[in-house]
Amino acid sequence: MSETLTPQSTWPLVVSFGGGTNSAAMLIEMTRRKVVPDLITFADTGGELPETYAFVKEFSKWLVERGMPEVTWVRYEKETLEANCIRQTMLPSLAYGFKGCSQKYKIQPQEKYANNWLPAKTIWKAGGKVIKLIGYDAGEHHRAKIPQDAKYVYAYPLVEWGWGRKECVATVQSAGFIPAKSACFFCPASKKWEVLALAKSHPQLLERALEMERNAKCEVVKGLGRNWRWEDLVKADSMQMKLFDDLPDEVPCGCYDGEVTEEKP
Ligand code: SF4
Repeated sequence: MSETLTPQSTWPLVVSFGGGTNSAAMLIEMTRRKVVPDLITFADTGGELPETYAFVKEFSKWLVERGMPEVTWVRYEKETLEANCIRQTMLPSLAYGFKGCSQKYKIQPQEKYANNWLPAKTIWKAGGKVIKLIGYDAGEHHRAKIPQDAKYVYAYPLVEWGWGRKECVATVQSAGFIPAKSACFFCPASKKWEVLALAKSHPQLLERALEMERNAKCEVVKGLGRNWRWEDLVKADSMQMKLFDDLPDEVPCGCYDGEVTEEKP
């Protein structure tokens, strides 16, 4: 396992499971290395694709069969991210260049859960810390920061193992799962081809994303693509036009398993 973990092995080990390929690969490898975490959390924004929800449930069973804890679902209780955007006539904050949506709907619910979790409270009271494992891969090492934190020690096993996206995909496949990205269906980090793929695979979800875009008061940005509107892209595609090739690319998502690294199939 990770060098980072060895000295503090009595500290509670928490995995932040994003529902996508990287953190799944990390957990699969942990089962092989017989490193059993004390808690695995999945933060549900309410906007994941149905296949992601199905995968998280199926993967949780797979983990339990191998002696790992089941996946604990956490969420921001008041409303989903989609409902929040509609109510505030806004887009997810990533569209404006901020990562508040990821902070509020992914990170904070997991921290809130841990704040009330007995092993964490006990170790904090004793002056120790909780070790949090995050599934950034070796290609994302720039994101693997080690912040000073009174309550947590952060570790990035995939980075320490030198695993890139390729190794993660192969590991997930070897366990019998289909590697997939996890992100909100309306995520502003979506690539153009992903928006078009959503239109084909989940037209009703696309329509909800377009409704969010239409409903938002877009004064600073044009739409979910920041400087382009998803609706324009979909309309152009339906007319078989290629008007968007010269537009700047999208911003990266701040979520653990939301980064899009795959190329267009
Ligand atoms: S997946 Fe995208 S929209 Fe959803 S919380 Fe993360 S950054 Fe925000």
